[in-house]
Amino acid sequence: MKSIPYGRQHIDQDDIDAVVKTLTADFLTQGPKVKEFEDKFAQYVGAKYAVAVNNATSGLHLAVLALDLKEGERVITTPITFAASANCVRFAGGEVWFADIEVDSYILSLESTRKLIESKPKGFFKGIIPVDFAGLPVDLEAFRNLANQHGLWIIEDACHAPGGHFTDSKGQKQMCGNCNYADVGIFSFHPVKHIACGEGGMITTNSEKLYKKLASLRTHGITKENMSEDHGGWFYEMQELGFNYRLTDIQSALGITQLAKNAQGVIRRNQIATAYKKAFVGKIKFQDLPENSYNAHHLFIIEVENRKELYDYLRTHNIFTQIHYIPVHTLPYYKSIGYGDANLKYSEDYYSKCISLPMYPTLSDEEQTYVIEKVLKLVNGK
Ligand SMILES: *Cc1c(COP(=O)(O)O)cnc(C)c1O
Repeated sequence: MKSIPYGRQHIDQDDIDAVVKTLTADFLTQGPKVKEFEDKFAQYVGAKYAVAVNNATSGLHLAVLALDLKEGERVITTPITFAASANCVRFAGGEVWFADIEVDSYILSLESTRKLIESKPKGFFKGIIPVDFAGLPVDLEAFRNLANQHGLWIIEDACHAPGGHFTDSKGQKQMCGNCNYADVGIFSFHPVKHIACGEGGMITTNSEKLYKKLASLRTHGITKENMSEDHGGWFYEMQELGFNYRLTDIQSALGITQLAKNAQGVIRRNQIATAYKKAFVGKIKFQDLPENSYNAHHLFIIEVENRKELYDYLRTHNIFTQIHYIPVHTLPYYKSIGYGDANLKYSEDYYSKCISLPMYPTLSDEEQTYVIEKVLKLVNGK
């Protein structure tokens, strides 16, 4: 058996052709492919605007700036996420506060978030960054209600979930990142995620004001619109301090062909998840999906008592699993700024047992059967 990773990109001939074609076109960057990718992505998730960026971490950074996070202001997120979901708050000089996760779905707990907010004076927090962890859509309608009670903004970190959706209380299907309940949505195009651009990210929003701010910050804060003076055709103004967080046309061309395959990829991911669940039900705990939602399945996570043993055993059989994630508040940087003894019991408990099994559209049935067999063999001793 060749080695089986936990996640892997899927590149076809049409992806290669699209990139090669862009290489001989007029624009390698700042050309038409970027806008085309943005428009198609916005349409796919059902958001009004999309801003392509060089990675999701940059997207998160711009999102907190566009939402006007100031030094010392406080934002709540989950410890069970990639560090960037929290780091973006630190980039702007803000304070990260962690609420705990749900025991069965592993996503940020609404109740834990509510308790944290209500334990502090009004105005203490500015925003919440829930994460559609492993591809499982957060119930953003519920988070929006909570956020509205306390005047908070919401950034949906949807890096795991393009194509995921939940059904709200009105029976409406809500695609991850459509921003009907969040202010901003964030996606990543790192190759382990659904859509591979090498590096890349997308910010979605329905607010024209946020859109304009994000687009300006992405490219140095430089504009040719609404200028205070105009000296001629060459003239531009730098109206605020921005960055170069642009995505290239080469990457956007790849993003466009990758996006076209995403719906199919998510269907395949769900088939793989169904096969895992069928094999593990009653034997091994796996991520539980709330009713009325469709998991985009970036990951398939199980919990086992002898996790390290399983991880090492699978490696010796060429199966390369991963752990998602080491709780962010326990990372040395966060410990060094005082988070060491945060009392996040469920997150720490979850971390001691979690392991992500191979999950990607080109995983074959035969490979999956092999993975299942090895997992059951170690966990059940059969
Ligand atoms: C991958 C990931 C990011 C960062 O994405 P990059 O494109 O690598 O910057 C942020 N949040 C979550 C939840 C992620 O999984």
